[in-house]
Amino acid sequence: MPLELKILIKHQDISKAVDRLAAEICRDYRDLNPLLIGILKGSFIFLADLVRKIDIPLQVDFVRLSSYGSGTESSGKIKVISRLTGSVQDRHVVVVEDIIDTGLTTQYFVKYLKRKKAASVRLCALTDKPSRHKTDAKIDYLGFTVPDKFIVGYGIDWDEKYRYLPDICYIE
Ligand code: 5GP
Repeated sequence: MPLELKILIKHQDISKAVDRLAAEICRDYRDLNPLLIGILKGSFIFLADLVRKIDIPLQVDFVRLSSYGSGTESSGKIKVISRLTGSVQDRHVVVVEDIIDTGLTTQYFVKYLKRKKAASVRLCALTDKPSRHKTDAKIDYLGFTVPDKFIVGYGIDWDEKYRYLPDICYIE
C-alpha cells in the first residue's frame, strides 16, 4: 500500500523559524567566529539555509553519526560514519541537528566535543519530539516542537527518500 504524506510544517513557516534562529545565533556569537557543525545527512538543507541568514563570520563542518538503519526506531547505539575535518579545540561550537528524538545522538556528540576541548557547545535543532526524550537534552536554539510522528522532508529522509520535499511532512 503506498504511504500517505501529510504536511506538518509549511516551507514558509520553516523559513520564518530559520530567520529567527539565525538572528539569535548572530546576537549570541558576534566576534566569536562560531563553528557550526551539521549532523549529516538530515541537517544539510537546514544548515545551508541557516548560514545564509547569519551575517557574522563563521565556519562550517559536518559529521555523520548514525543510530538508525532503514527502520524508524533508534537502535540507541551511535556510530561515527564520517569525521570532522578540523579541530574543535577552543572553538565556540553550535551543533546543528534536524530532529531531537531520544536525544541520544546529540548527547553522545556534545560529550565528544567537550572531550575534544571545545570552548563552548550549544545545540540548534530544527525540530524536537519531547515525548520521546531519553536524555535531558538542552536545546539552545529550537525551531519547532513536533508530535511523536515520523517526519520527512526539508532534508529529512525515510530510507533515503523524501529529502527533496520543501515542507516537513509526516508519514501516516
Ligand atoms: P535521537 O538520537 O535523538 O533519537 O535521534 C536523532 C536522529 O534520529 C535524527 O537526526 C534523525 O536522523 C533520526 N530521527 C528521529 N526521529 C525521526 C523522524 O521522525 N524522522 C526521520 N526521518 N528521522 C528521525
